[in-house]
Amino acid sequence: MKDCNCIFCKIAGGEIPSATLYEDEEFRVILDLNPASKGHSLILPKEHYANLFEIPEDVLGRAAGVAKKIGAKLLEGLHATGLNVLQNNGVSSGQTVFHFHMHLIPRYDGDALGLAWKPGKLTEADRDEILGIF
Ligand code: AMP
Ligand code: ZN
Repeated sequence: MKDCNCIFCKIAGGEIPSATLYEDEEFRVILDLNPASKGHSLILPKEHYANLFEIPEDVLGRAAGVAKKIGAKLLEGLHATGLNVLQNNGVSSGQTVFHFHMHLIPRYDGDALGLAWKPGKLTEADRDEILGIF
């Protein structure tokens, strides 16, 4: 289902032009306009799903296939040395566009990209609470 107010629907559908690296019936892969690194790209499904919890599993699986294929090509073509695959859900995670997308972020030895976090310590209370959910 298309959301007519969604910018990524318009980009994925070709209504708004974009720097497109790859396109098939289901996905468009574009360069991010505000890249974290050289080659930072976004995989957009052409259908509108707000996030991970809305996208059907089969579409998600095919998006992972696109990530693998385009990620490998970015790595090779740009001589990158690593790749982060990132996907945000919800404002508190950093999601700003509420149309499911996967970030492909090429990494280069010695780059100072701040994607790392300060490691915490798993407490017994948290462990027990979390295991109790499942
Ligand atoms: P997120 O924070 O996970 O929702 O990521 C949204 C990403 O979309 C950000 O990295 C933005 O730089 C990028 N972005 C927003 N609008 C556009 C656009 N019109 N074309 C390309 N990238 C965009
Ligand atoms: Zn959309």
